[in-house]
Amino acid sequence: MTAKIIAIDGPAASGKSTIGKKLADHFGYLYFDTGVMYRAVTLAALRRGLNLENEIAITRLAEELRIDVSLPSAENGRSYDVLLDSEDVTKKIFQPEIDKNVSVISAYPGVRRALTAQQRRVGLRGEVVMVGRDIGTVVLPEADLKVYLDASVEERARRRYLEYQMHGEPASMEEITKSMRKRDRIDSTREAAPLKLARDAVRINTDGLNIDQVLDRLKLLAEGKDV
Ligand code: C5P
Repeated sequence: MTAKIIAIDGPAASGKSTIGKKLADHFGYLYFDTGVMYRAVTLAALRRGLNLENEIAITRLAEELRIDVSLPSAENGRSYDVLLDSEDVTKKIFQPEIDKNVSVISAYPGVRRALTAQQRRVGLRGEVVMVGRDIGTVVLPEADLKVYLDASVEERARRRYLEYQMHGEPASMEEITKSMRKRDRIDSTREAAPLKLARDAVRINTDGLNIDQVLDRLKLLAEGKDV
């Protein structure tokens, strides 16, 4: 039987989004990229001029905001539109400024509680590929298949650089690498739901593998045919 709940975790730019979306399309499942929720809270906090160190204010914001993810309204290479209180913020939440600040906010337990509850509700309906840092460990520990995608920081920075270029975002390789290392460190050392390999997850290092090679492996795993 094909896995009904598929969790994909891993560090920034490890290929989770690209692979997750393709896997979801293959099985006709919902694709849910949980990182967009943390990004949307970060954008809202920056816009309101909140001090990002103010955990209480940021937590209240995460509880109040209305974040919706819907099918894309334009052919811009994105798999979805992210709406923040009805405004389309899809492009804005992927800017380097958000990359730089999102980990501080996502380390707050209250923020995680608010967003995890929403993610879990969607995930438990099944027929879903959910992507993030703590899906297999915290959000959906009952997932039928848990995958941990990994790649070297050099390879991941190169992928992110190409992504920025594709979307016309100015960025330097050096800045990206620095920001990514910092984000990985905060994400994996925080107390609340850190990025780590779930005990029953399959770890795949994607260095030197192309998208189709990883995707084929995941399809087999999801169908219980992987040896
Ligand atoms: O996956 P993406 O790079 O878009 O995630 C942005 C940030 O959101 C991560 O660096 C992490 O701090 C946070 N995040 C998280 N838990 C998730 C998904 C994302 O803490 N499930």
